[in-house]
Amino acid sequence: MDHAEVVRQAEEAGVQLVTFLYCDNGGIIRGKATHVSGLERRLDSGIGLTLAMQAMTDMDELLVVEGMGPVGEVRLIPDTDTFTILPYAPKRALVLADLITVSRRPWEACPRTFLKRMIAKAESMGLTIQAAMEPEWYLARKEGDEFVPCDTSLDNSSIGAALAQDVVDDVVAALEAQGLRVEQYYPELGHGQHELSIGHAEALRAADNHVVYRETVRNVAWRHGMYATLAPKPFPEQAGSGLHVHFSAWDENGKSNLFFDPDDEQNLSALAYRFIGGVMEHMPGLVALTCPSMNSYRRLSPGSWSTAFTCYGPDNREAALRIPSLFWGSEMASTNLEFRPSDSSANPYIALGGLIAAGLDGVERNLMPRKEQGIDVDPVRLTREELESRGIRRLPESLMDAVRALEADTTLTGAMGPVLANSYLAIRRADWDLFSGRDTEFEIRNHFYKY
Ligand code: GLU
Ligand code: MG
Repeated sequence: MDHAEVVRQAEEAGVQLVTFLYCDNGGIIRGKATHVSGLERRLDSGIGLTLAMQAMTDMDELLVVEGMGPVGEVRLIPDTDTFTILPYAPKRALVLADLITVSRRPWEACPRTFLKRMIAKAESMGLTIQAAMEPEWYLARKEGDEFVPCDTSLDNSSIGAALAQDVVDDVVAALEAQGLRVEQYYPELGHGQHELSIGHAEALRAADNHVVYRETVRNVAWRHGMYATLAPKPFPEQAGSGLHVHFSAWDENGKSNLFFDPDDEQNLSALAYRFIGGVMEHMPGLVALTCPSMNSYRRLSPGSWSTAFTCYGPDNREAALRIPSLFWGSEMASTNLEFRPSDSSANPYIALGGLIAAGLDGVERNLMPRKEQGIDVDPVRLTREELESRGIRRLPESLMDAVRALEADTTLTGAMGPVLANSYLAIRRADWDLFSGRDTEFEIRNHFYKY
């Protein structure tokens, strides 16, 4: 959208403040707003942000990371295509921003720029990546200092749907008003847990959508006197909340899904298998990007459909990579892969960028997945020997295991580049240092209302 049009729309709607938003290394959505009177100028020159913000943990502790001290600024430069007036706060608008250096170059620590780079790499190989992020979240009330689920409804239960109807209907309307395509809704397994999915889009838009989604769900719930939490495991005794990532690769025109091959027994092309091969190869390090918080590892456990093993399989909800069955009448369009060890404490740009980097590595190195890692049973039903002989391992069981795997994965850290990778890893290590010394209550309290 051109700048004059953004200003016109904001003024016409009576917007006062326009927030330039970004998502940081800690997975926190942060931003700064300009008054509408300065909008035109700020769309060009941006809003200043200290470099140190990418060395800030999700507990607002400033880490010592090279090049990210108290000196120096970047600019939050908006991508005006993402401008949206907020249906739940009509005097406000948001626009998603890139972090650009004062000498007008993309900053190496900018997560959105990292994803753009991976998208461009895929494009240079003739591939347009489409993705959809499938969020789960809880609706909670606060009783004194305690968060409690808003109801005790059952999985897919019509009672759960009825009790949350006013909030969910407002969420749907608000998402649609901001241009997101709502696909499906149902009350999930946990008490007060919901899943409302958004249609697939080109990768950058899919990640942008998830930032808008998090803002919307939280704000709409708040307006109903409730708290929406997208934390991976907000209630230790209830189901976790995933952010499964569905993805596929299309041709340059976006007309043909290159993951689809009707002659294959799983309807997958050689390209899709190479993506599987790449993702399987990089799974442990990748999980540090897609399940990055201490709370993530409370979710990733066997027997809860959150996945816990490095395997793939057809419609297998205990496999880290599910090959979803196709829908009648839209076989080509519905072909995709679902990456399940992922949650909303992730920075969606970093998570999706990492997933693309892993998949493209599979393509470049012709990594076909190991057949034995493809299973159509729950991996906990296999004996230790069977798992071993198939090369199926536990996913990282703690944040520190995942961090070590990422540090050892030079394909992923190389794709991120040293500035982003080092600052990201520093934040994750700081999280480990803090939370591993504290109890469950402290962990839950400090993750509950953050994402
Ligand atoms: N709640 C599960 C998770 O943590 C997923 C349930 C489902 O298959 O939708 O990923
Ligand atoms: Mg679900």
